[in-house]
Amino acid sequence: MAAIDPVELSKELLRHETLTPVAKQDGFAPLVAALNTLPFEHTFYNFSEMGHDETCNLFATTGGQGDSKNLCFAGHLDVVPPGPLSAWKYPPFEPYEKDGMLVGRGTSDMKCAIACFMAAVARYYEAHPAPLKKGSISLLLTGDEEGRAINGTEKLLSLLNSKKYQFNGCIVGEPTSNDKVADMVKIGRRGSITFYVTLHGTQGHVAYPHLAKNPVSALCGLINIVQGYQFDLGTEFFDPTHLEVVHIQAGDGVTTNVIPGTASVTVNIRFNTLYNPLKLQEWLESQCLTISKEYDVTYSLQYRLSANTFGGEQSPLGILLGDAVQSVTGSLPNFGTTGGTSDARFISQYMPVVELGLLNATAHKANEQVAVKDIYTLTDIYYVFLEKWFAN
Ligand SMILES: [Zn+2]
Repeated sequence: MAAIDPVELSKELLRHETLTPVAKQDGFAPLVAALNTLPFEHTFYNFSEMGHDETCNLFATTGGQGDSKNLCFAGHLDVVPPGPLSAWKYPPFEPYEKDGMLVGRGTSDMKCAIACFMAAVARYYEAHPAPLKKGSISLLLTGDEEGRAINGTEKLLSLLNSKKYQFNGCIVGEPTSNDKVADMVKIGRRGSITFYVTLHGTQGHVAYPHLAKNPVSALCGLINIVQGYQFDLGTEFFDPTHLEVVHIQAGDGVTTNVIPGTASVTVNIRFNTLYNPLKLQEWLESQCLTISKEYDVTYSLQYRLSANTFGGEQSPLGILLGDAVQSVTGSLPNFGTTGGTSDARFISQYMPVVELGLLNATAHKANEQVAVKDIYTLTDIYYVFLEKWFAN
């Protein structure tokens, strides 16, 4: 078994232009080559769904399905588009090392973290060449995370579950670090729900307002109540539930003498474990009802749930990963739930999940980059974690 250099493997992965969603296996080739140096079995799963591009996913596993030591590492090989190439100092898919930084699309989010985990596994096997008896190590890698995430992790988990695979814990390699590598481990995420409210008045002439019912006035009244509303004060690991008005629409933007018949507002709410979609819907319904009575209008309400909240409590898995971070960096990480959604929301339905990866400062930006030394530090952390996970 040859050692794997996480920086070299990162570069190989970065050279593949794996724009989301990834339909071909090519981008996975460097990983397959690395897996083939280790006693892993791997399978590609392609999923498709009407209206969405077919996506390639890779599942690899080694060891037996032991009692409670079945570890999963999850991540995504797809990347967001580079944007205008003129904003990049170097071509985004030709990884470049400069002043201790590795530059390229996908360095932070999150090909390098995948390379770190592969390198950590190789090192673990070097130290413990005998086949795993107490459990298993699996890799669950998708090509559909940055987009709609329709044909990726969620479908793969469901399939693996039907095949009776057991998992006892998962690390997702998303870039969670803020200022220093491994200064933040995510132990949950807030949920995200969007509400679309339309207020229906009566269209009329601006000069005869008594013959019309202006839904714009009602809309202003509603926004006044909901924007800045204090839902809760947050919990130990969750920020407060928060609403933002993201879109308003009324009239045609041209006519100046017509009171419009309808006015609508879109709000997005990031919510913690003190709320749930139903509770939020009931809350907004009651605000709409109050406004509709006050302004003599009617309303309609629709919503789209992007992600439910999960986690937000410390777990043995989080504590163990925190210990590994402390062993390597000398300090315990912060544990939090900030940031957007990730595939961890799907994984949390099957097993305890935590997230730890490289710095997120340049994720999705031009000249995305990570420190080369951080790649080695994260590899050390994953390796120490593996030692602790299989220790007893
Ligand atoms: Zn990501």
